[in-house]
Amino acid sequence: MTRGLMMDRPLLVSSIIDFAADIRRGTEIVSARVEGDVHRTTYGDSAKRIAQLAHALSAHGVNFGDRVATLAWNGYRHFELYYAIGGIGAVCHTINPRLFTEQLIYVINHADDRLLFLETSFVKLVEGLVDRLPKDLRYVILCAPEDMPETTLPNPLCYEALLAGQQERIVWPEFEETTACGLCYTSGTTGNPKGVLYSNRSTVLHSMGLLTVADGIGLRPGQSLLPVVPLFHVNAWGLPYVMPLVGTRPVFPGPRLDGESLFTLMDQERVTAAWGVPTVWMGLLAEMRRHGRKPLGMELVLIGGSAAPAPMIEEFERDFGVDVIHGWGMTEMSPVGTVTTFGPDHDALSISERRARKISQGRRLFGMDLKIVDGTGVRLPHDGVAFGELLVRGPSVMAEYFNDPDAGLGVRDAEGWMRTGDVARIDPDGFLYIVDRSKDVIKSGGEWISSIDLENAALGHPAIRECAVIAASHPKWGERPLLIAVLEDGRTATADDVRSYLSDKVAKWWLPDDVIFTDDLPHTATGKLSKLQLRKRFGDHVLPGA
Ligand code: AMP
Repeated sequence: MTRGLMMDRPLLVSSIIDFAADIRRGTEIVSARVEGDVHRTTYGDSAKRIAQLAHALSAHGVNFGDRVATLAWNGYRHFELYYAIGGIGAVCHTINPRLFTEQLIYVINHADDRLLFLETSFVKLVEGLVDRLPKDLRYVILCAPEDMPETTLPNPLCYEALLAGQQERIVWPEFEETTACGLCYTSGTTGNPKGVLYSNRSTVLHSMGLLTVADGIGLRPGQSLLPVVPLFHVNAWGLPYVMPLVGTRPVFPGPRLDGESLFTLMDQERVTAAWGVPTVWMGLLAEMRRHGRKPLGMELVLIGGSAAPAPMIEEFERDFGVDVIHGWGMTEMSPVGTVTTFGPDHDALSISERRARKISQGRRLFGMDLKIVDGTGVRLPHDGVAFGELLVRGPSVMAEYFNDPDAGLGVRDAEGWMRTGDVARIDPDGFLYIVDRSKDVIKSGGEWISSIDLENAALGHPAIRECAVIAASHPKWGERPLLIAVLEDGRTATADDVRSYLSDKVAKWWLPDDVIFTDDLPHTATGKLSKLQLRKRFGDHVLPGA
């Protein structure tokens, strides 16, 4: 082997904030805060506070490799924590406040966190857990001294007091790029949550992967992007790292994520692009309908985390002139795997042909290899027809779970690729179509029915606001689809209406055997429909004729 003669410089997250402080210095960071106001800073000033926080962490005994937890909304302080913790070689453990109590206790103990930084709005939540958290855990409340709440938390520290007086400059330590910098637990539909431990290298390379499609996904210098996707889950899809690289102006929404608050903030701050899960966009779309317009300046919405329903894509694009990008990924993948961006090869496509491809989850990012395999592990062609289990490989894909050998059993195949648990097909142009989660697909008489496709079709019914399809057991077919739907306010529909609406949209044998109407559907901590809860509630439903 002839070794290349280039410098072997480590890929560290600290270099991202150094770059932003140098090259993106004046670009604003806007945050709607728990305090109720809108806070403004710049990458340049943020870098100074990040340095102060890093010094404060070291002063409080945070060492290389220690885990430091956050329970916080999207805002400038959470952004500072990402860089200060990772920058000194510690691990930023972002906690999803929507986890169940037992899961919160589990993850804090499993991660063995040293410090927990929490928003004032989570003080009551943590007070209720404190007896079951590590005894030496220190609590830091994300506020100024005058806003420190009354609390029973033991010896709470104040974030702004911690920073005050620390030096605004830092020379970041250098260490191996494979050093961990972030930890995020999957919400875990069964068993305990599982930890995914990101490295400096995987994080930088994932950001570079996003850079290759930056323009198409709303990441442009000086333009404003609203991450509704939380910093407390999967690195807000990589945004805290890639936005400073591009020089995008973040508009962090803080705790208020309802349609009205988002609309107002986007209007005021002239947000061009927004990223989030479909449930959030249902709220924003309702508000857009009420106003009869989109928020001023809005150009693009990136929908991911669950399948983007076709009617939602249509409404954004056709009724409001907002370009939709659909993306797919997993916590275990840092997380973005694919996005629906187009290239010059697609210039000839009509609007409706493009829209048809937006139902797909898109094409892979650089650094994400995809393969689909049959039941015996043999690769299937990317012909748009064959479908099978989807596996991924790349430098920002997880190799194993954090301190959890059992959870990792069978997570990779013999060639080292990671199993996603999704079933998919891939067309010759590289567009990935997620057929279903392998656990959710309905196995009817040896044939498969995609719950995602059926939900998508049913959502086109004018009376249906949200719906889910699960398998109900059937004596003859094994499983048959059961549709559970929430109706729009003031609308009515019957099971027969819905079935007849679907009859020319899906194959006859796909038609749900029954439709149940309910007031609301359960969601997981990350905003996905909880099929597990639905199966518990409705899985024993006796189908007509069964
Ligand atoms: P999480 O790690 O919590 O983000 O969950 C990852 C899983 O969410 C994936 O394996 C998919 O099953 C699902 N998912 C994410 N994005 C999409 C999408 N755009 N369409 C369909 N499923 C998705």
